[in-house]
Amino acid sequence: MGKRMMVVAETKDGKLRQVSLEALHAAYTLKEEGDEIIAVLPGHGLDAPARELAGHVEGRVITLDHPDLKTYSAEAYYLAFSRLLDEDQPDLVLLGHTAVGRDLAPQLAARLDAGQISDVTALEITDEGALFTRPLFAGKAFEKKRLTGSRGVVTLRPNNLPPAGPVASPAEIVPAGDTVSGTPLQTVIRDIVRKTTGKVDLTEAKVVVSGGRGVKSADGFKPLEELAEVLQGAVGASRGACDAGYCDYALQIGQTGKVVTPELYIACGISGAIQHLAGMSQSRIIIAINKDPEAPIFKIADYGIVGDLFEVVPLLTREFKQT
Ligand code: FAD
Repeated sequence: MGKRMMVVAETKDGKLRQVSLEALHAAYTLKEEGDEIIAVLPGHGLDAPARELAGHVEGRVITLDHPDLKTYSAEAYYLAFSRLLDEDQPDLVLLGHTAVGRDLAPQLAARLDAGQISDVTALEITDEGALFTRPLFAGKAFEKKRLTGSRGVVTLRPNNLPPAGPVASPAEIVPAGDTVSGTPLQTVIRDIVRKTTGKVDLTEAKVVVSGGRGVKSADGFKPLEELAEVLQGAVGASRGACDAGYCDYALQIGQTGKVVTPELYIACGISGAIQHLAGMSQSRIIIAINKDPEAPIFKIADYGIVGDLFEVVPLLTREFKQT
C-alpha cells in the first residue's frame, strides 16, 4: 500500500494562500505509485477557496468548516485536526512554514508521534528517499535532512517551491463532520485587527521593497510604497526603521521579524546587519540602495546602487511605470 500524504492548506482574507499550492507541489514531487494525496482546508466560509484548491488536487479535498476555525487558534485547530488525523492516519503531513504552520505542525507531529522537519526550502528525491534542505544559522549554512521514522511532518518556507498547477479533473470536496463543537474552548478568537494594509502579503510577495533607518521618517516610506505598488510587491522594513517608529513592527524583516524569499528584494537605506540578513538573504535577486559604499548590505547584493534613496527610488518607480 502507498503512503498517504496530507497537505494542510490555508486561507487569508478568504483566499487560498499561495504557499498551500507550493506544499501541494511538494506532495506531487514526493508522490510514488499508489500514494494518496489529501488536501485539508480549515476555516470558515470555505466554498470559494475549497473550489480553487480542488482545481489543483488529484485526490480529495477535506474541508474543516466551523466558525471557531475562522481565525487560527491552536486549541480549536488541534481539536479539529485530531479526529481527522486519527481517522486518516497520514504518513506525511505538509504545511506552509507560516505563522499558522509553525504553530500547528508540532502539535500534529506530537499527535501522530511523527518526526518533524521545519522551514524546508528545497527537496530532492534520492535512492534513500526524500532529502529536505533547510537553512541554518540565519541562512549562513544549509542542512539536508531525511525522515527516518515511518511518519513525518514537514513545513515549507513560502516562495521556494513552485505552486502545483491545475489538474484535469478537480478533486471531490468532502466536508468533514463537526470536529470542534462539543468541547468547550478555553480561548475563542473573536476578530483579528490587522495593522498592515498592504494588498500583497509580505511573506508571499514576489517583490519586497524594504526601508531602513535611512528612510528617516514615516513619510520617507512613501516613495518605497509607490515603487512597491508599481511592482505589485509589498513593503518591508528593518528593525532600525521599526524601532525608530517609522513603520509598524508587522513589516519587520529579519531574525526577530518575518522571513521573506521574494524574486526581488530592494533594500533602501538598510545597512545589512546580520539580523536583517537572516530574514532576506535567500531572496533570488537583491538590490541595495545605500549612500555608504562600505555598507555590509552590498556584500550580499546582486546589484548595488550607491546613492541617496530619495533620488534613486523615484527614478526606479518612473522607469518601471514606463515598462
Ligand atoms: P542602520 O544600521 O542605521 O543603517 C541605515 C543605513 O541607511 C546606513 O547604512 C546608511 O548609510 C543608510 N542611509 C542613510 N541615509 C540614506 C539615504 N538617504 N539613502 C540611502 N542610504 C541611506 N534588525 C532587523 O532588521 N531585523 C531583525 O529581525 C533584527 N533582529 C535583531 C535581534 C537582535 C537580538 C538584535 C541584537 C538586533 C536585531 N536587529 C534586527 C537589529 C540589527 O542589528 C540592526 O540594528 C538593524 O537591522 C539596523 O537597521 P538599519 O539597517 O535600518 O539601520
